Amino acid sequence: MSDTIKLGIIICDRYRRCAGGKCFRALRNRDGAFNRYVDREVELVGYTTCDGCPGGNVEYLGEEMVGNGAQVIHLATGLVVGFPPCPYIEDFRAFLATRYGVEVIVGTHPIPATYLDTHARLGTWDDPAWGPLLEPILADDLTREAYD
Ligand code: SF4
Repeated sequence: MSDTIKLGIIICDRYRRCAGGKCFRALRNRDGAFNRYVDREVELVGYTTCDGCPGGNVEYLGEEMVGNGAQVIHLATGLVVGFPPCPYIEDFRAFLATRYGVEVIVGTHPIPATYLDTHARLGTWDDPAWGPLLEPILADDLTREAYD
């Protein structure tokens, strides 16, 4: 059996023109939430947007990603760092995990430094509930600056 982890990425439709530069770089370098695969081969088997609030495409994209072998689905860092953050993160996570039995990870690339600075000043993530969501993508100062 292959040791390669197959994963899908869902991006926030506000960034639908994004070509995936930060996510793909982080995947290659195993930065941010992809650090969990530091000793593993990975294969990206799906990449799409939620199709806009309230994320109607999430109901359908899982079928295709899981059909293509996805074992893990990542909700891109844009859902966390957008202004405001996506209000449906927990809904998406619960639905995908329940409907398809996949692991759902919040985050892809490290939080860019400017976003961390602005959200810190806004108090966006003051609620402790954000702690576990931020931890995999918080990274260190140098890494965050590299993803600005
Ligand atoms: S905020 Fe959430 S539901 Fe709205 S476009 Fe972004 S990911 Fe989709």
